[in-house]
Order: sequence, then structure tokens, then C-alpha cells
Amino acid sequence: MRTATAASLALFLIGSMSGFPNLATAQSPEVSSTIDDSDGVFIDGTTFQIRPGKGKSDAISAIKGLGARELGPGAIVFRSGQKLYIVDAPLRLPAENSANRSGVVIDAQKGRTNRIHIEYVPPENPDHQYLVEALKAKGALEMMQRLFSPFRLPADLTIKTRGCSGMVNAWYAVEESGPTVTVCYEYVDDIMKHAPMETTPDGVTREDAICGQFQFVIAHEMGHALFDLYGIPVFGREEDAADQFATYFMLHMGTHAPRTYITGAAYAYNEYLKNYQDDPKVVVPLKAFASNHGAPQERFFNLVCIAYGAQPVLFADVVEKGLLPKTRAGSCAYEFKTIRYAVHREIGPHLDWTLSRSVWGKTLVDNTVQLAPSP
Ligand SMILES: [Zn+2]
Repeated sequence: MRTATAASLALFLIGSMSGFPNLATAQSPEVSSTIDDSDGVFIDGTTFQIRPGKGKSDAISAIKGLGARELGPGAIVFRSGQKLYIVDAPLRLPAENSANRSGVVIDAQKGRTNRIHIEYVPPENPDHQYLVEALKAKGALEMMQRLFSPFRLPADLTIKTRGCSGMVNAWYAVEESGPTVTVCYEYVDDIMKHAPMETTPDGVTREDAICGQFQFVIAHEMGHALFDLYGIPVFGREEDAADQFATYFMLHMGTHAPRTYITGAAYAYNEYLKNYQDDPKVVVPLKAFASNHGAPQERFFNLVCIAYGAQPVLFADVVEKGLLPKTRAGSCAYEFKTIRYAVHREIGPHLDWTLSRSVWGKTLVDNTVQLAPSP
């Protein structure tokens, strides 16, 4: 899930401003295009006049005295009616003569690795305390912090678990503290309740199902986060794209984990598919087709299709056992290549390759693969 974000708003505003390249000078000839060191700008929230100011004391003591905070790569001030608003912008306006078609660029030089923070927020519901202890004992968030450390991010990002008043959910949003991925304890509880108590006939252990689904949901939300922070355009449903990113990401975690965690993640859809062979017809309310998420059955087939397309030998059994219909299997290699192409083009430039090799055992992008997808 993704909520409306400050970065999305920034894109809207920057896009709107781009139609007025001389906005600053049109407002007042006194306004400089840059702020000199120690100087400032005051925007009157009543008259909406913009007044540049000269620093009268050293800026360091003013920062402490006024409790000022750093804005990072940029900020946007905008007016709505009789009120002013400010929003941190993790994006930077392009140089004046930039040919960038989207109108915004990421300051790649300012992106840094190891910007993931984690937080186990104490649960609201005492029944969830066991989840906090189980997650901490496994170092679950610490593992996710490490796995996502090789991405050079333009802002610090927090991954946290917290109670959600009974709501089974997870999402990405830009909160006051910055970009945040949230997973509810209710969601983790749901994963635990539905995980198999014993290893399934297909070889999915309880631990594979729990770890695979936990990793998949965080990777899915991190997909939303990276689309947002890197300004990646998405055609089609973003929920599908986030699933694709998560699957691609999990396929590149070393050599052993992909098989166990992908099948573990796929187990989440088990209850929707268990009658697939015996009762292949599904009856759903018409409004199910209006969701911004794919149906669970679609998400399952997409997940195993990408895995099969990436590694047809390792995942050959999904076709042999009839979990993935042959009618779909034929296009999976191409589907995987198109995702790989998107990852190379849009995410690869933000990845620290050396760190990713050391953390994952391999890298998300590989300079030996062909960049262009097959026709
Ligand atoms: Zn989502």
C-alpha cells in the first residue's frame, strides 16, 4: 500500500512551477536566486510577501537559539488560501538547461548508503508482546536494515513495526520524521497464524513461510519507497510494480534464500489456491476487480512466474506440479527480463555495487546482462 506522500506533492508542485521559469524574479526584482551564507528569507504568512534578510549574527548560534532544523536537499513553501505550508523535498530541481524529461532529478551525489533506521515500537496490545520478542530474537528488522543498506538514498528512511488498533496492514508514507515503511503487528500476527505448523508436502517450512512473507511485505513497501524517492515513473498499477520489485529483490539474495523465501512468500496465497486443482472456478464479488491490488491468485501467479522466468531450473517444479499454468509459463522469461531492464535503468544507478555484493552475496544488477529486453 502507498499513501499520498510529500514527495508526490513535491513532484506536483515542481511540475507546476516548471511552467513559470521566471517565478522568482517576477515576484520581486530584489529576490536573489541564491541565499548567501548566513542570510535568510522570510515569507510573511499574512501578506505573503517574500523578504530576503541579511544575517546579523553567526548562523550556528541562530540555529541553536531558534531550534532550526536542516531541510536536506530542498524544501517547498506553498500557499493555499490564506495559509502557508512547507514540505521537505527529497528531490532537487534540475539545472536550468537540464534536458531531464521528468522535470526533477535526484541529487545522486547526495544519496548515501546505510540510511535505513529501524524501530520496534512497543505494541498497543499486550497480546502482541510475543511478536516483538520473536522479531527481536530473530533480528528481523536488523536483517532488513542490512539488506537495504546498499541503496544510496536521498533521505534517511525508517522501517518500523507497530500496533495499528486491530488493522492488518503495511504501508509506505512520508511522515514528519521522514520516509517510513510501517508494518503492523497485526499483519505479523496474521502471518504467524496462517503459517504452516509443519513442513508442507511441497517443502515449505514454518520458518520459510514466516521469513519469506515478512521479507516480501517489507520489500514490497520498499519498492513504493524507492519509486517515490528516486522519482521512478510507473506505468500500470503501482501495487503490481511493487510486487515485481519485491520478487526481483528476493531473487537476488544469495543462492539459497531465493528458493526458500520465494516459496515461503507464495505460501501466503495458499488458502486462495488450495482448491485450484479440484475446483478451478473462483467466484468473487464484481468489485474485487476494481482493487488497486491484484487478486491474491493473480499475485501468486505473478510471483512464481517472475521466479520461474529468472531461474527456470530452480523453479521448474512450479510448472511440473501445475502451480503455474503452462499457458503463462511461456512468457515468464520475457516478463523477468522486462523487470530486470527497469531495475537496471531506474534503480541500478542508485546502488552501491560493492556493498550490495558483500551484503547479498551477489548484486541486484549485473553488468554482464543484456540491458535491452527481448522483443
Ligand atoms: Zn503496496
